[in-house]
Amino acid sequence: MQNNIPAHTKIDSRIQRLPENIVNQIAAGEVVERPAAALKELIENALDAGARQIDVEIIDGGRSLLAVHDDGIGMNAENLALAVERHATSKLPDLNLSNIQGRGFRGEALAAIGAVARLQIMSREKTTRTANMISVTAGEISTVAAASRAPGTSVEVREIFFATPARLKFLKGSAAEAAAAREVVERQALAAPQAGLRLTIDGRAALNYPAPDLAEENPARARIQQVMGENFITNAREVIAEIEGLQLCGWVSLPTHSRATAARQFFIVNNRVVKDKLLIGAMRGAYGDLLPSGRHAELVLWLDVPPADIDVNVHPAKTEVRFRDATAVRNMLVSSIRRTLHNTSQQTSTHLSGAAFQYFQSRPQLSRQFYQPPGLFEDGPSAQYDAGPVHENIDDAYQEKFPLGAARAQVHENYIVAQTVDGLVIVDQHAAHERLVYEKMKKNLLFGDVPAQQLLIPEIVELSASASAALLAQTEPLARLGLVVESFGNSAIMVRTTPALLGEVNVQNLLRDLGDALAGEADDTDILRNKLENVTSTMACHGSVRSGRRLNAAEMNALLREMEATPNSGQCNHGRPTYIELKLKDIEKLFSRR
Ligand code: ADP
Ligand code: MG
Repeated sequence: MQNNIPAHTKIDSRIQRLPENIVNQIAAGEVVERPAAALKELIENALDAGARQIDVEIIDGGRSLLAVHDDGIGMNAENLALAVERHATSKLPDLNLSNIQGRGFRGEALAAIGAVARLQIMSREKTTRTANMISVTAGEISTVAAASRAPGTSVEVREIFFATPARLKFLKGSAAEAAAAREVVERQALAAPQAGLRLTIDGRAALNYPAPDLAEENPARARIQQVMGENFITNAREVIAEIEGLQLCGWVSLPTHSRATAARQFFIVNNRVVKDKLLIGAMRGAYGDLLPSGRHAELVLWLDVPPADIDVNVHPAKTEVRFRDATAVRNMLVSSIRRTLHNTSQQTSTHLSGAAFQYFQSRPQLSRQFYQPPGLFEDGPSAQYDAGPVHENIDDAYQEKFPLGAARAQVHENYIVAQTVDGLVIVDQHAAHERLVYEKMKKNLLFGDVPAQQLLIPEIVELSASASAALLAQTEPLARLGLVVESFGNSAIMVRTTPALLGEVNVQNLLRDLGDALAGEADDTDILRNKLENVTSTMACHGSVRSGRRLNAAEMNALLREMEATPNSGQCNHGRPTYIELKLKDIEKLFSRR
């Protein structure tokens, strides 16, 4: 090895103890390699402090400002002074590394950040009337001064890495750093469904995940819906398992709902978002060949393990863990995900005997075109037209005209029960509406001229560079669909109008999904057509009537009439049936009347 030492390197055998500020800067290299990493530490601190609402601000990708405001337990003057010291923590009360309860435990994040930036912390405990503040500039700690603030803590980091110019040079552009910060907020929002999180980027609201009502039965589900989107929930199933102290819960996507990357897979172990090979491997094993190669599931899984059975002290950013009993964890994951995926394919059959289930035929598509009703929901939720009297006798003539029958009731806020001459039809309103919107958009794509809805204030969406480029390459066909976008510097996109068909949509989620749908591969026309179909289908999901919307009789009938008039309305864009039909004679069989 010796002869590999370059000639200009001076060898010096004197060993010196490194001064504290250099030690902290070295630590900072591991803990806070970029603004988003510092942000993660600050949000984790706020969560450890029991915050219920956390507000994050970043400016210039976090380079000029990174601020986290919380309403947690706060710190008094004495603790404030200790907090910025290295190896000072409140999270190891029994000095036992195998009993780590909080997210932190090393006591080095604040010291590391203070070593490379201008750090200011203002804090007030709930029980006192005055707040205190302290600042650290490139490792130089100020005295504690009185301040004023509501109970909780604000941490402001300005000019991060100004003290370590080498590090500064490695930062990406502010759009990329902002995107990384946004991912941190998304991940932490999933890790802590009980807390509200808000993010503003350069003064503009970027994310807002409100805290759930205290009465919310399933805050985790509510949070998944906020972060992963409605489309994920519709296409995912719940996983719940508990074996020998291991607790697993979460949602995994159906194999039919896959993505091109593994970016939307979240594992949260004891409140920490981790990237763990063991968990990823187990999940892959569980899906097995249910997923086409090159496709990835979307999922959020929370795993809780007794602190003594896990080592979280194996990675500088604490994103990896080591399980005492890795096999048990693996087995649990594989078997519970498999069970969930397996049950799904025959969910209905668990409620009916196997033979009876076959009576529930899903008709692939209605063969005849009936009259063309005006567009459903286009002019508001109760589009008015003659859908036939609601309680009239249903005879053969009626049936001839309206094969899906007359709507009689809506149950579980999503299923329309309709009566036909010789049986009944159950419509999945969400799936049906999704298909109708999709078919309309497909038509629009062919013939152009889609009503667009002007946004009051154009919305800015931060995307990955590739997604943004892919979207911008298709501005013309997108505009034909009613989506007018333009570049907004770096990889941000400004959205001016959305397709009116979609009604109120979450523009951020829509654009991100579209970016996904368009990114990748070269654009020869066939692929492009495929992709645009993909785009229409993605848009349709965003515009669908959510299950949970109550419809009146006229609206229900309008939906049935529109289904009758729409090609392919027998199945939703994901291949699931939009309705099932049960004949009277089959119902009689179910009740052993025949
Ligand atoms: P660690 O989180 O590993 O303990 P940190 O350097 O991140 O190390 O924080 C040091 C200490 O400062 C914490 O243990 C905690 O007592 C206190 N602290 C940091 N942030 C907050 C906050 N937002 N609210 C209350 N206390 C905090
Ligand atoms: Mg910490």
